Amino acid sequence: MMETRPQASSGTTGKPVEVQVPASAPTPPAPLAGPGSMTRSKPETPLADILDGDARREVPIHEHGFVALLDVMPRLVPAGQTADAAIVQAARVSYGQGTKKINEDRGLIRYLLRHRHTTPFEMVEFKFHIAMPIFIARQWIRHRTANVNEYSGRYSVMPDKFYRPTLDQVRKQSAMNRQGGAERFGVASTNQEHGGTDVSPVSSSSPPRLPNADCPMPSSESLTAQAFIDYLRESEDLYKKYLDLTNKGVSREMARIGLPVSLYTQWYWKIDLHNLLHFLSLRMDPHAQEEIQWYARAMHDLVQPLVPITMEAWRDYATEGGAVGGVKLTRLEVEAMRAEIAALKGGRGEAGHDQAAAPASTLATDNKREQAEWEAKRKRLGF
Ligand SMILES: Cc1cc2nc3c(=O)[nH]c(=O)nc-3n(C[C@H](O)[C@H](O)[C@H](O)COP(=O)(O)OP(=O)(O)OC[C@H]3O[C@@H](n4cnc5c(N)ncnc54)[C@H](O)[C@@H]3O)c2cc1C
Repeated sequence: MMETRPQASSGTTGKPVEVQVPASAPTPPAPLAGPGSMTRSKPETPLADILDGDARREVPIHEHGFVALLDVMPRLVPAGQTADAAIVQAARVSYGQGTKKINEDRGLIRYLLRHRHTTPFEMVEFKFHIAMPIFIARQWIRHRTANVNEYSGRYSVMPDKFYRPTLDQVRKQSAMNRQGGAERFGVASTNQEHGGTDVSPVSSSSPPRLPNADCPMPSSESLTAQAFIDYLRESEDLYKKYLDLTNKGVSREMARIGLPVSLYTQWYWKIDLHNLLHFLSLRMDPHAQEEIQWYARAMHDLVQPLVPITMEAWRDYATEGGAVGGVKLTRLEVEAMRAEIAALKGGRGEAGHDQAAAPASTLATDNKREQAEWEAKRKRLGF
């Protein structure tokens, strides 16, 4: 006797076909382990979903971007706990009886992070869906410890979405930092569509303003910022040509290569907590490009409630970046600080009054960048 089964493969016609298979098809091989070898256990306490049943938690970024948290491991934790529990659980395996000394979860997590015992933090994982401009994706992809699956511009037409800052978000090149630019041009109007400009100083939180009849002549700074916006718009106009050429038969993989890096791409990005903290340290740092800082901060806010003890410890102890955590001192900086403290102490008279102003702390190096970094640290330390 024969059975008829539908087959997914449709051959060259594109229609489903049916294949004849003998009813006595071979049974699947028996499992290698015996049926009695597997045990199943129920949790000792009821479990709760730390995402409260949410399929997605999304933070919008600028006009077209977003960071969405899709999943967490562990997602089910003992009711009333957070994913911090998985870190403690893993650490207790490695320390065994040793954890009797450090038996409080918060204390254990803080100890682990302070002493860079990092593998327990790899037991927690996050899956994100992210939409960002290609120039940000290029920086992001350098973080090799994540798993990535990106939208394919070979399979699909790239969506017509581009990153274009508002007029008051256009930044000047920094004279100190060759990679950066934090200072804004002296423009206040964000009313790009109406071409409105004025010369008052900018505040990034200032609301868009309509063109003003009393508005004075635009400043050269306003004009430069506007010229930059126009330049981006012109590059976006290439999208029409891109579509036209794909419609005329040019392959998508070739047509896309003329599009600007302000074009948006998307990916799924999965990473464990240890490596996410490293990413956040580097990308929430003021030295990172401002646009990627927005994304890093959104990720921070999404994971914060899921691993609150770890995030608190990270903010207290992280020393990789300058935005959060402690301050990492080099040997030269420690020596300069000692000298400064000694000078301060030596400058006090018996009554405790300053006898001489404390000398500016000098770092034993000619390197201007290093000196500037030390100055920034001194300020953070309150010197
Ligand atoms: C402000 C800033 C400016 C930057 N400027 C530039 C630039 O001008 N040019 C440029 O090319 N890049 C630049 N980068 C990227 C930077 O050099 C790193 O590639 C990026 O930050 C990823 O860091 P990572 O390698 O530590 O991270 P991950 O790839 O996530 O790796 C995490 C850690 O795993 C270990 N690891 C991973 N892979 C390896 C490996 N193959 N071998 C040994 N150890 C490994 C390392 O300890 C590493 O720190 C910049 C980054 C920042 C934050």
